[in-house]
Amino acid sequence: MSLIVHKYGGTSMGSTERISNVAKRVAKWARAGHQMVVVPSAMSGETNRLLGLAKELTPSSLTDAYYRELDMLAATGEQASSALLAIALQAQGLESVSYAGWQVPIRTNSAYTKARIESIDDQRVRADLAEGKVVIVTGFQGLDDLGNITTLGRGGSDTSAVAVAAAMKADECLIYTDVDGVYTTDPRVVPEARRLQTVSFEEMLEMASMGSKVLQIRSVEFAGKYKVKLRVLSSFTPWDIDIVEEAKSGTLITFEEDENMEQAIVSGIAFTRDETKISVLGVPDKPGVAYQILGAVADANVEVDMIIQNISKDGKTDFSFTVNHGDYAKTMDMLKNVVVPKLGAQEVVGDTKICKVSIVGIGMRSHVGVASTMFRVLSEEGINIQMISTSEIKTSVVIDEKYMELAVKALHKAFGLDQAPVR
Ligand code: ADP
Ligand code: ASP
Ligand code: MG
Repeated sequence: MSLIVHKYGGTSMGSTERISNVAKRVAKWARAGHQMVVVPSAMSGETNRLLGLAKELTPSSLTDAYYRELDMLAATGEQASSALLAIALQAQGLESVSYAGWQVPIRTNSAYTKARIESIDDQRVRADLAEGKVVIVTGFQGLDDLGNITTLGRGGSDTSAVAVAAAMKADECLIYTDVDGVYTTDPRVVPEARRLQTVSFEEMLEMASMGSKVLQIRSVEFAGKYKVKLRVLSSFTPWDIDIVEEAKSGTLITFEEDENMEQAIVSGIAFTRDETKISVLGVPDKPGVAYQILGAVADANVEVDMIIQNISKDGKTDFSFTVNHGDYAKTMDMLKNVVVPKLGAQEVVGDTKICKVSIVGIGMRSHVGVASTMFRVLSEEGINIQMISTSEIKTSVVIDEKYMELAVKALHKAFGLDQAPVR
């Protein structure tokens, strides 16, 4: 008997009819003799709806107290879908029970709206499984040390599922979603994108962190750390398809690299509109400046992604970096009111109309000139590159957001991903 974790995303849980289909699929797996833990997201649109309501009432200063309430609010979406799924499973004649994050409990730190899981107590879930129940654990939410409800960031149900699978040493974690696997790029943007049968853990980590929202980055980190067998597959196949076929479908995240992976120089293209660019202009060029700017940003609990500092002219320089959209207003405020006066810098300017496009592939380790091909393709399209960052297996550029689709399509073609053999 194996222990399997299924995760169903918002679209897969989008109506009572779909929830009923999920229940039928889960029932099929349970009847095949597996112990089942299921982690659902909120019904599609629900998290946005709830956060939208809060936005209408948002106070002028965004304090921790406000972010606490956002989590209290957003977590209700998963509580509702989990209960509905438990009911739908009962309708299939199975015993089923749902638990909110705090009931398990899934313990997190107190970073509201982007909390990190610290531990999971699986006793209650194990006891139910031993009694033959299908256990539903809400995605996205947890409990901090002070008893507050927290959420794990957008797309966080993936992380809940993988973390539960890791904590319970599950045999496999299956992420059911509205596409049938991980593609060379988002198939909704590039119809020629191709599904990968396997993708290496390192590539998946880069793709997720560069914006491919098919898996939340932290779920991939958990999978890597605890070697969770992880697969992405479609929830839109008929629920009664052969279970052996279903178990082999989609994309498997692998921990071993094979030769084919080295051969494909670029395996995927990721992109995101979630970042914004902030430039502090006319900064005195002296030691400690980067620390004064970025130290203050870090103290405000804001993560910085790309950073560039220009060469100085007349003892002054410009310093630019990118932060997530959600942190933009807070960071701009802080820089204007605290850092600029203290540093004696000229001004702070922000640009929210940027995007980041990244090429990812472990083959980039052993091939030279990949980044320059990327720059050539973009220049041929007349796209100006504002920032560049590289790692061993990826190159990212920041460009004007209006060129995002054009850039992704051109790069997808130039690196032969339209025709790439499916691994
Ligand atoms: P869920 O609600 O199931 O969690 P998400 O919307 O979070 O689903 O993630 C699935 C979506 O991710 C797909 O519909 C697709 O548009 C997008 N996506 C982005 N990049 C990729 C990729 N490389 N492969 C597959 N899907 C991708
Ligand atoms: N419901 C949450 C969101 O929309 C979590 C998730 O779907 O994974 O971000
Ligand atoms: Mg998701």
